[in-house]
Amino acid sequence: MSAQTFDLAVIGGGVIGLAHAYTAARAGMRVAVIEKDPCANGASIRNFGFVTVTGQERGDSWTLARRTRDVWAEIAPQAGVRIEQRGLYLTARSAEAVAVIEAFLATEMGEGCDLLRPDTFRRAAGGLGGPDLMGALYSPHDLRVESRTAIPALAAWLAEAFGVTFFNQTVAFEATPPKIRTSRGVVEAGAVVVCPGDDFVTLYPERIAAYGLRKCRLSMVKLADPGLRLPGALMSDLSLTRYRGYSALPPARALEARLRAEQPSHFKNGVHLIVAQGADGGLIVGDSHHYDDLPGPFAPAEAERDILDEYARATGRAPPPVLERWTGVYAVADERTYLIDTPEPGVRLVIVTSGTGASTGFGIAERVIGDLLGLTAETAT
Ligand SMILES: Cc1cc2nc3c(=O)[nH]c(=O)nc-3n(C[C@H](O)[C@H](O)[C@H](O)COP(=O)(O)OP(=O)(O)OC[C@H]3O[C@@H](n4cnc5c(N)ncnc54)[C@H](O)[C@@H]3O)c2cc1C
Repeated sequence: MSAQTFDLAVIGGGVIGLAHAYTAARAGMRVAVIEKDPCANGASIRNFGFVTVTGQERGDSWTLARRTRDVWAEIAPQAGVRIEQRGLYLTARSAEAVAVIEAFLATEMGEGCDLLRPDTFRRAAGGLGGPDLMGALYSPHDLRVESRTAIPALAAWLAEAFGVTFFNQTVAFEATPPKIRTSRGVVEAGAVVVCPGDDFVTLYPERIAAYGLRKCRLSMVKLADPGLRLPGALMSDLSLTRYRGYSALPPARALEARLRAEQPSHFKNGVHLIVAQGADGGLIVGDSHHYDDLPGPFAPAEAERDILDEYARATGRAPPPVLERWTGVYAVADERTYLIDTPEPGVRLVIVTSGTGASTGFGIAERVIGDLLGLTAETAT
């Protein structure tokens, strides 16, 4: 173990941990990251890498997402992370879905967004769109990175450019600054941020239990290159009932009633559609949502069938062959999109509880680091 003393130890090397490490290191702090795996292997590398602004819950989450998108855009070129896609297209197949989009556009969140006619969308999207396409929401605000390479690249850049020290394959089991006890000895740091993702038991289990968190398992696939470039990430009608920035709008009730009647299996499996394209042309497509205290490894085949069915409905094309399958797990709470807790002085516990960590993490980190290390707005941002 290093004899060095750090200003901040971050426990957890996922996107939330790295966001805190970046924010503190950029402000000149000496930072260590303690990660139990050889490198991040959880939700942060399994996701779409979709830095979603449009559709985030109105107010705080939407504000955090805009800030987080700006930080990704600023640091990606420095960290060697490619912005794979910009913008979002959300297709609508019913009058009820169009009504939700229109209501969204009438809010402050609709600024810069547009409702495209079917032929405009089809032209932009290489002819994609089913026969019942009625229009598409376009948002210019969103970004997409390839998480499986972006997260390791971000970690390597933090080490190289800011001297962040990574203790990998190291479990932290007690965080009482100035001493953090780990499976490899003691790390000394003045303050600690614990970003454990879906590990509710190793650190502060009683504290975490009080929030009544559950876990959610998602099914994902990678499809072969469809032979066209998508103009941005793609979503569809079902997303309007899932993302709180849309689903909280009054017209979403009628849409949900219609979709529940027409696509009951999609609701049973919590399926909605995100299609994101990478540099190799392949499509990252998902997802489903199954809630459990112990989400096992057994993903029902019908969830994947429903995802591919929604792909076919939204694009009007048969899905390309499946190249890869995986599942991922994240923490969820009914009443909050994230939590920041102070289990003891000098320690913050930070868990994103809404499956939006890649989209809100840097914004959250600026608040936490600013408060914990007493930084001013200028130095923390
Ligand atoms: C399939 C899927 C798709 C998603 N799509 C998106 C998306 O497109 N956009 C978006 O914004 N969000 C998305 N999300 C949600 C997003 O991935 C999560 O909100 C985010 O990754 C959470 O980051 P984290 O760092 O808190 O957790 P994790 O990535 O789980 O990282 C936590 C880390 O902490 C480590 N750890 C825990 N306890 C200890 C300890 N005691 N000692 C040492 N190490 C410890 C773990 O090993 C782990 O590496 C998706 C999630 C999934 C699963």
